[in-house]
Amino acid sequence: MTVAFAPSSSRSGEWSAEPGFGVYVHIPFCRHRCHYCDFNTYEGLDALFAPYVDALVTDIERWDGEPSPATSVFFGGGTPTLLAPEQLGRVLAAVTERTGIVPEAEITIEVNPETVDETTFTALLEAGFNRFSIGVQSLAPHVLEGLGRTHSAGRALEALAAARRAGASDLNADLIYGSPWERPGDWARSLEGVIDAAADHVSAYALTLEEGTPLHTLVATGRVPDVDGDVQADRHAVADGYLRAAGFERYETSNWAQPGRASRHNVLYWSGGNYAGFGAGAHAHVDGRRWWSERLPRDFISAVEQGVTTEAGFERLDDSQRGPEALMLGLRLKSGVDLSALERSYGEGFLAEREPVIERLVGAGLLERSGSWLRLAEQSTMLANDIICRLL
Ligand code: SF4
Repeated sequence: MTVAFAPSSSRSGEWSAEPGFGVYVHIPFCRHRCHYCDFNTYEGLDALFAPYVDALVTDIERWDGEPSPATSVFFGGGTPTLLAPEQLGRVLAAVTERTGIVPEAEITIEVNPETVDETTFTALLEAGFNRFSIGVQSLAPHVLEGLGRTHSAGRALEALAAARRAGASDLNADLIYGSPWERPGDWARSLEGVIDAAADHVSAYALTLEEGTPLHTLVATGRVPDVDGDVQADRHAVADGYLRAAGFERYETSNWAQPGRASRHNVLYWSGGNYAGFGAGAHAHVDGRRWWSERLPRDFISAVEQGVTTEAGFERLDDSQRGPEALMLGLRLKSGVDLSALERSYGEGFLAEREPVIERLVGAGLLERSGSWLRLAEQSTMLANDIICRLL
């Protein structure tokens, strides 16, 4: 398979028809599972850390995709920082060797505050990581406790400060809002805290109750109040107010960045770009072919040790599926999407079919058109899912 990618160097947060090439690496281990989490992650598997790293490196070396220098690399989890910086550096070196990395690539690692100190950040910077995404979630102790986070608010702020002392220049703070325990003042203090800590980027997501999680069970059995959609909409508006006042720009429904600090990797996903994925349960996409790896860490390791593929499944999307999906993803970005670029990529049919709905939504003030670009109107942000459903 030969794939040509035109690396984009933009960190403006705008949709791009050529967003570059990304690499995602999944580390499926956590010290403790948070009550709301449904990610592919496991506690108590410390004995697998070393064999998993070996398997990951081998799997990357064996990757048979067409090498294309990565414009972004993202180590997510799980808790990547449960592994030693040397282990993470080994995996990053394997990515660099196999796919290449453009000189100005964004190389992010998710960080759980309880697993790091200044020395860790120094070692991670030396290993080549240049962006840290720190799981703050809240600065209210009772909210952290309700969510099942085991770090304190102070520890989260210390992680941001330690990263800065180590020389990091690109910091994201992850926040969660609208949990049943959160009072308006708690949310305001969390926002003020990460702004004062000089985060360059803030991802703020509404708490969702995922089936199978302890929190879902607590709510379903009436032991914890349900989340309230109206409250969450208010909290989103509060976040937007605080962050804008501090110089951030919202470039996606749930993501704000200082100018020039939008996440390239996120924008690549929302632009429908191509990316390789390595590790247990990791997903990948190249030109309409999507595939995913063995979900359980032991199965992933054993596939590599047996010399068989780690791919657990795949699907192939044709243009009639890719066009609407690209529209749906792109409308999450504040810039919206360039319809003429979508037509060039996926044909005119799917847009012509939707033109009457688009016109109605523009007429109702829910969508805006500017030249060939289509985007959500500012007041439609919290209605994004409904509007996108109408377009599909
Ligand atoms: S630290 Fe993150 S990945 Fe791990 S259990 Fe908590 S929310 Fe899930």
